[in-house]
Amino acid sequence: MNAPAQSTAGGASALLEVRDLRKYFPVRGGILNRAVGWVQAVDDIDLDVLPGEVLGIVGESGCGKSTTARLLMHLIRADAGRIVFDGNAVRADDAAGLRELRRQMQMVFQDSYSSLNPRLPIEDTIMFGPKVHGVSSAEARERARELFALVGLDPAQFIRRYPHELSGGQRQRVNIARALALEPRLLILDEAVSALDKSVEAQVLNLLLTLRRELGLTYIFISHDLNVVQYMSDRVLVMYLGKVVEIGPTAEIYQRMQHPYTEALLSAMPSMDPDRRTETPPLVGDPPNPIDPPPGCRFHTRCRFAEDVCRRAEPRLGPAAGEETADGPAAGADHLVACHMRVAASGHSLAPAG
Ligand code: SF4
Repeated sequence: MNAPAQSTAGGASALLEVRDLRKYFPVRGGILNRAVGWVQAVDDIDLDVLPGEVLGIVGESGCGKSTTARLLMHLIRADAGRIVFDGNAVRADDAAGLRELRRQMQMVFQDSYSSLNPRLPIEDTIMFGPKVHGVSSAEARERARELFALVGLDPAQFIRRYPHELSGGQRQRVNIARALALEPRLLILDEAVSALDKSVEAQVLNLLLTLRRELGLTYIFISHDLNVVQYMSDRVLVMYLGKVVEIGPTAEIYQRMQHPYTEALLSAMPSMDPDRRTETPPLVGDPPNPIDPPPGCRFHTRCRFAEDVCRRAEPRLGPAAGEETADGPAAGADHLVACHMRVAASGHSLAPAG
C-alpha cells in the first residue's frame, strides 16, 4: 500500500475504499503505433468515502480528478489497485458485480446535453435504467414522474420534452433524476455544475444538498471551483499530477492547509473578504508533463520550499504536523499530507529554500 488508510471520524467504516489505484495511458507513435510513453494520469492513490459524507476532490486540470471518477465507476479499466464498495471488492471481469455496482453508484457529468439521448423524450431516458434492471414499464413511468417532482421539474410540463427543449439547468436536473432512478447510494458529480450560470448553479447545489439529506446519499464532488467545493464538502482531497497530496476535513483544509500546493491553490481563490486574502504567491507555470513527472516530490519544480530531499525522495501521505493557531489546535489525526516538511515528525521544517 502506498499510504496509510485515511482515518475516519468516529471510526466509521468506509462505503467506498480505494487502495493503490493506478491508470497510465499509452502515448503512441512511430509507424507501428507502439507505446512510446505513458501518461501517469492516476498513480497509486488511496481514498476512503464515508457513508453520508460529501468528499470534494480538487486540483488543476489534468491532475487526475476525472480519470479517478471514471476508474471508480469502472468506465475505464484500472492498471492496478483495489476498489471495495460496501465491503465487496469489485473486479473488472465480474459482470454481475459491475452491474450491481453501477446500480449503487451513479455519475453526473459536466455536459448536460451530451449526457442525454437527443432522440428520446427525457421520460424515456429516465425509464431506461430501471427497465434494464427488470422494473416494469408502468412502475418505471411512475418512478420517472416522482423523480421529476423530486428534482423540481413539473412532470406535466416537462416529461415528454426532448433535451434540446430544456435549459442547461433543467437538463442537469434531468441528469440528476436519471442518476437517482436506480436508487443509488453514492453519486459521483464530475464538474456537474461547472457549465451552469451562477444563479442556476446555486439552485442545483442546494437541490443536491437537499437530496443528500432526504435520501441519505453519499457524494464524491469533483470541481475546479474551490468556493463551490468548500460549500458542498465535509472533507476535501487535493490532487496534483496523479497523486493525492492532502486530505482532511473541509475547515481544516481551508483554514490550516499544510501542503504548499494546497496553499497556493487556495491563495488564488477569489474572495471579497479581506481577511481571507493571503500573502502566499500564486502558483506560477504549468504543471510538469505527466508523461515524465519529476522525481521525488512531483511538486518540487513549482515549490518555493523545495530542498534536496524533495528532489530525491517521494513524500508519502501521512498525518499532518500542523501548528497551533488562533483558529485552533494543531492538525487533527484525520488530516493527511504528502510533504516532507509538513508530515508529522519528519524532522524537516517548512522554511522557504534560500
Ligand atoms: Fe514542496 Fe518538498 Fe513539500 Fe514537495 S515535499 S511540497 S517540494 S516542501
